[in-house]
Amino acid sequence: MSGIKLTSGENGGIASGGVTVREMTRLERIGAHSHIRGLGLDDSLDPRKCGSQGMVGQAKARRAVGVIYRMIAEGKIGGRAILLAGKPGTGKTAIAMGLAQQLGEDTPFTTMSGSEVFSLEMSKTEALTQALRRSIGIRILEETEVMEGEVVEIQIDTAFGGENKAGRAKGGMEKTGRLTLCTTDMETVYDLGTKMIEALSKEKITAGDVITIDKASGKITKLGRSFSRSRDYDAMGSTTRFVQCPEGELQKRKEVVHNVSLHEIDVINSRQQGFLALFAGDTGEIKSEVREQIDAKVVEWREEGRAKIVPGVLFIDEVHMLDMECFSFLNRALESDMAPVLVIATNRGISKIRGTEYKSPHGIPLDLLDRLMIVSTEPYSHDEVRKILSVRCEEEDVEMADDAMELLARIGIETSLRYAIHMIIASSLAATKRKSATVEIDDVKRVYRLFVDVKRSTQYLMEYNKEFMFNELDDRTTEYG
Ligand code: ATP
Repeated sequence: MSGIKLTSGENGGIASGGVTVREMTRLERIGAHSHIRGLGLDDSLDPRKCGSQGMVGQAKARRAVGVIYRMIAEGKIGGRAILLAGKPGTGKTAIAMGLAQQLGEDTPFTTMSGSEVFSLEMSKTEALTQALRRSIGIRILEETEVMEGEVVEIQIDTAFGGENKAGRAKGGMEKTGRLTLCTTDMETVYDLGTKMIEALSKEKITAGDVITIDKASGKITKLGRSFSRSRDYDAMGSTTRFVQCPEGELQKRKEVVHNVSLHEIDVINSRQQGFLALFAGDTGEIKSEVREQIDAKVVEWREEGRAKIVPGVLFIDEVHMLDMECFSFLNRALESDMAPVLVIATNRGISKIRGTEYKSPHGIPLDLLDRLMIVSTEPYSHDEVRKILSVRCEEEDVEMADDAMELLARIGIETSLRYAIHMIIASSLAATKRKSATVEIDDVKRVYRLFVDVKRSTQYLMEYNKEFMFNELDDRTTEYG
């Protein structure tokens, strides 16, 4: 391999000749965790009011994950592992999703289920390696030269009071922006500076963003993020400063930042078709020599100040599905200085470690357990279940009468939160059928009779087990609780 490529330079466009374009209706899907928009914590990591960013209760676990969030965001940890352990339906996945949202787009966050590593197309360790490398970001800087006397930077410092749109920050909120320009035309500079202040006030950009502004329309395009975040703004209010390239100097400015993952660099450099394999998802196994060369190159870039490693997060749900080989692989992988933060979740109690005859807590080997920071999730109270259900109703755009909601919350406590959540949309369909916009208590009762929960299904099984095939009544699972 001659060098490390970042883009193939090929035209990835699709030919459109002779194709009839049909109008499509946008289908919005609502996922199980689509109501989660963050961890719902304030600046001192205390949980905000119930339902903030979609999060309800579970204060201790959220606070603990908030501390981890802060460490990741400040780039302080890599190679750590966190275990979210608790009964089914206590929000482990929801909390992990909240962490992903909170970290934002710039920090890589990969999510997978333990069973995904048992794919036929690649070995288990290859699947885990790819997942780990997807979770390591590389921020690459592209430099441009600026000529003597040119205005190289406008620093704009604006301060706003009050609450922002989402009601997130109470009291004062400060926003700063930096615009890098190559022009000596002061009129343009003032004009664009004003547009930037406008954009800042509309929350389109934040400190550290590198943007372009279209002179005619004022349209703003985000190019990436800049490393140098100057915090030495001296005044509140609105201040604009112009920094000119000193005379006799040819400066190199860090202008555009590319955020890619190590896995993306691997794929681009490992196949003939280069980056197109990324879209097809057909990446296959990647040779270890390719990875070694890429790692060496990244270290070189880092030393030259051209790249920064951003350890992201790899979240593995249902981690008890991994086997002994996978656990020992992960144990070793965490030792690497480029390792991401590993967050794993399980609802298992004492159970067999897959691939062995040994039992251990959560089905995880003791040597890996020993290096984990364990965060446990607690069962919800009636009020919390009711609040989660009402957040879900809002998300699914379902209007529900008070007594129907109360019944659904009771069902949630007695059966499971997930069963109650599934009943929302089914009850709403029942309401629509009788041409009502609001779900009433009878709709909930009707759906409760139509779909059985696990408890009722098990009772039915006990009564009629002889009539089912392949009975193994003695086989006990070791699920939590
Ligand atoms: P399992 O062990 O079965 O995987 P889990 O602990 O990962 O369960 P989730 O899947 O996170 O549980 O929770 C079930 C449902 O309840 C999801 O739709 C989730 O978004 C929602 N939910 C759980 N906890 C909360 C919470 N604290 N706030 C808001 N929604 C929640």
